[in-house]
This record gives sequence, structure tokens and C-alpha cells, in this order.
Amino acid sequence: MELDFGISRKIFLDVATGWYDFSKRGSNLVSAKDISIPHIQGRYRLNACDNAKRVQEFFFDLEWSSFTPHGEKVDLVTRELVDYYFPQLREAAFQVLDIVLPFIQKQYVYIRASGTGLHIIFFLEGLQEGDWEAITQFIIVKSCLPNTKHASSLVFGLDADTIISSDRKISEFGSWNKWKKDFKHEVDYLNFATFLTPDELFLAEHYPFCPKFEAVRYPERYRSFPAPERLLTEAKRLPPADSPIQRKQSTSLPTAQKRIVVPFEGDIPLDDPASKVRRCSAYWNILRSRDTEWYERPFLVKHLIYVLKLTEQEILKLIDTYRCWDDYDPKITRFYVRKHFREGSSYSKVKKAPRIETLVKYGLCEKGHVCEFHK
Ligand SMILES: [Zn+2]
Ligand SMILES: [Zn+2]
Repeated sequence: MELDFGISRKIFLDVATGWYDFSKRGSNLVSAKDISIPHIQGRYRLNACDNAKRVQEFFFDLEWSSFTPHGEKVDLVTRELVDYYFPQLREAAFQVLDIVLPFIQKQYVYIRASGTGLHIIFFLEGLQEGDWEAITQFIIVKSCLPNTKHASSLVFGLDADTIISSDRKISEFGSWNKWKKDFKHEVDYLNFATFLTPDELFLAEHYPFCPKFEAVRYPERYRSFPAPERLLTEAKRLPPADSPIQRKQSTSLPTAQKRIVVPFEGDIPLDDPASKVRRCSAYWNILRSRDTEWYERPFLVKHLIYVLKLTEQEILKLIDTYRCWDDYDPKITRFYVRKHFREGSSYSKVKKAPRIETLVKYGLCEKGHVCEFHK
């Protein structure tokens, strides 16, 4: 792939365990020839600016939201569940293929069974600025599939947040879910991502699991297809109102997006510190948002330590019970909360909760917000 497309940027991940990109302290991104482990985990999606042939990769991530058919949250994904959901997942994949295959020959369309979901991938040549967005939008809109990342019940659809972000890490054929299994405990089986063709997907009756590395199938090579004129014309004809891709607005602070706050149903016992957190919407919303930004979480932790006087264990328990963060990982949370308690860490320097002006500035509460902590 690197040679075929003349890739000039280091986009390949050289770690065996999972997804951690420690690029801030020494990068684990390398050129393909420098990968030191037997199977590649992942890489950045190939963008036209990163290769001599100016090939653009298109990537559609099909998955189900992690709920049972009755609407309970799924904490541990089992092989049985993945297989049980497979017919509907496959149906969703067909809805994407129905849009793609009339334009792009099927030998150029690659399907990856990632372990729980399906990825549909193809590479186009000769695109102009903006064409990637137009085609991606067109396929998302025309497939009529729901966005799995903001679902509150079981849906089969597209992880649109991942698909439309322009600089994106994706797993590669041969990558395994060891990190998810042994460290995050999200799945109960080991699996390697494997390749299948659209025809094989049509015929598949079961989810194409691949428990052994030796059994991984790879496409012979990635090949790019000249961008079909007709696809471009149709994509550009899509009214912009339908566009699921929001263009980045240049505001001074990174808070332009709307928060998705999950309402809490039910009572919180009075001796549970969460009942106090709930009395300030600013902090409660940090806890209850699906898309809480990394820079917001220390505000909450400081409030818990310096105003509510909670211990490290109480804080971890509270976050574990009440947070709605899509990317919540208990180990990472513990790692950061601990820093607030450790003298000499950058997190323990400021020993007070943020001022109300700070919360307003970051869009965490309205100007004039009043509560028992903010009078
Ligand atoms: Zn996904
Ligand atoms: Zn408040």
C-alpha cells in the first residue's frame, strides 16, 4: 500500500496492544516498512495529501449501538451477541453497498470484519478539494442509516462521528482486540480483523469471526478506482441542508458544538455525593454529557475535591456510576484523577474549583447561572 500509493507520511501504527497513540512523547507512527510487530494494528486513514498518487480513502464504519434489544446497556460484548446481531448489521451494510456498488466496481470495495462491526472501504483517485466531504455525506445521507454514536437504544447504523472526521485512526486487517478484551474488558473473545468481499458478505450467515492470527485474510492489495464522474455529480447535487458534516467554525473557544446531556431518571440517595453534584447544572452536565471534552473533566474533579471534599475513591465511584461519556475508560480516569491528589503533578497545582467566569467561558453554564455553589 505504501509503495503502491507512494505514501509520504508516517501513518502506520507500531504497537501490538491496541490504540494508544503516544505521539506526544515520541511517536509510535512509522512507515509501513518499519513496522516491527508481526501484524499491524492500525493506521491513519489515507488522505490524498499524504500520498504521491493523491488517492483518497473512504471509510464507512458499520456497527450497532451497545444496547440489548430491550434497551439495557451492554457492558461486555460476547461472540453470541455479535452473531445474533449480525443479520441486521449485514442489512445495514447492504444499505451502504446499494449506494456504493452502482458507482464503484466491487473488486475495488473492501470489507473488514473488525470483530464486532463491519468496515466498508474504497480508494478513489483524482478528487478535488471538497470532494471527499461531498461523497461521504452523500453516502451517509442516501443510506438512511442512524448514527450509532448518539443512540440511546439499539440501532444498526453508521458511526458517523468517526467517518466524517478527517484525520482518523482506523484498525487494519490483522489487528486484534486484545486491548479491548484483556485491558478494557469490553469483549469476552479474542478476534483478528479479517477481509471479505462484498459477495462473501452477501452469502455470510454468521459473523466472520477470526480467532486465529494465521487465519486472517487480507486483500491481495489495496487498489484505487478513478473517481466516478456520476458519483461526484450526484454527491454535489445533495442539498447542503442534508449535510451531516458540520464545517468547523472558527470561534475562539472550542465549545461551538451542542452538548448531548443524558437526563438522569430516578432518585439519588441523599448520602450519595452525586445528589450534591446534581445541584449545579454546570458540573452535572460535565458528568452527564456523552461528548464531554477532556479539558472539562478536571473542572469537575476540582469541584469534587475542593468544594465537596470527596476522596479519590468516592470520586472514582461517582464517575463510574453517573458518567455518560462515550469514551469513558475507568483505568484512564483513575490515572488522571490520581494526578489531582499527587503533590507536584501539574493537576494538583491549582487547589480550588474553577471560577464561574471560567465555566461560562468554556460554555459549561450560562452567564448569570446561580446555584448553591455559585451565588
Ligand atoms: Zn466503530
Ligand atoms: Zn453552579
